[in-house]
Amino acid sequence: MTKDYYKILDIPEFSTQDEIKCAYRKLARRWHPDVAGNTESVITRFKEINEAYEVLSNLTKKADYDTAKRFYDYAKSEPKTNNKSENEQKKNTTSPNFNERGNSKKEKSKFGGFSFDWEEFIAKKYRESRYKKEQEAKAPKRGNDIFTDVEISVFEAIEGTTKVVNMLQTQVCPKCGGRKFVNGGKCSCCDGKGEVSQYKRFTVKIPKGIKSGSKIRLAEEGEKGLNGGKAGDLYLTVHVKPNSDFKTDGLNVYKTLTIEPYEAVLGANIKVSTLSGNVSVKISPNTKNGQKIRLSGCGLEQGNEVGDMILTIEIQIPEKLSNEEVELYKKLRELSTRVIK
Ligand SMILES: [Zn+2]
Repeated sequence: MTKDYYKILDIPEFSTQDEIKCAYRKLARRWHPDVAGNTESVITRFKEINEAYEVLSNLTKKADYDTAKRFYDYAKSEPKTNNKSENEQKKNTTSPNFNERGNSKKEKSKFGGFSFDWEEFIAKKYRESRYKKEQEAKAPKRGNDIFTDVEISVFEAIEGTTKVVNMLQTQVCPKCGGRKFVNGGKCSCCDGKGEVSQYKRFTVKIPKGIKSGSKIRLAEEGEKGLNGGKAGDLYLTVHVKPNSDFKTDGLNVYKTLTIEPYEAVLGANIKVSTLSGNVSVKISPNTKNGQKIRLSGCGLEQGNEVGDMILTIEIQIPEKLSNEEVELYKKLRELSTRVIK
């Protein structure tokens, strides 16, 4: 872009055709060699004014010129990605042969002496974007994070445990280093893929009192980085398997406690297995079905927090009663004060 026609006509870029015409007429009168003198600089200036008007007054030519100008201004304003000179960049990159591609034959827009080398312009843009891509490809890149799940029992959640996790990981091929070829032949290690998938075993310590849904992060155990970039992280989501005896909600543990009718009536002391061993639970006389008993501090632990165990009483009729027991129930019926309607 050698000439700025807007500057030559001293008008802003958004000028209307009338404004362009007006500016041209004013300048053409002022710089006419008959008026301003028949000197070489005056003639040059007068020619430039005519050239600018010829392009800007023709809508097609003006559109072409505006596009070229925008590209040019953009290229000028684009920050350089490094300190290398353009010649060095040219050496490092291959410029496309537009003539062979056939879709970009030598096309110089020529109007009124204005000439814009589209081929060189496009080739330059291509070299720049390719150089930028190459630099990006060479830059260190952090590996991807990997996410997986691990299932543990309620007891493991309470006590803490160690789990072995096998993870399929994709790594850059150790033989060809991702180049896919070795000594001109396809790499035998990765079969020309440049990367290999292999299982890696991790031994993961699961802290005691972990809540279902908690995530454990293993730093830099994810996919390997590229060009010296850091590896990603491995995230394990811990799921606590529901247990028929225990259910957990946060740090609290829920359990159903079945008792016999006489225990509900008379009260009892019942051994209950909790997460931290057996405890004796006192059942008060006249305990009702569905009644809840809270065992403080018998739930899950996390840091300084400890949950409770909540027992729900379920009065269960024994499946098999001895004859003696049946007799006693009959006696109970006789003694019953309940009025049957
Ligand atoms: Zn390989």
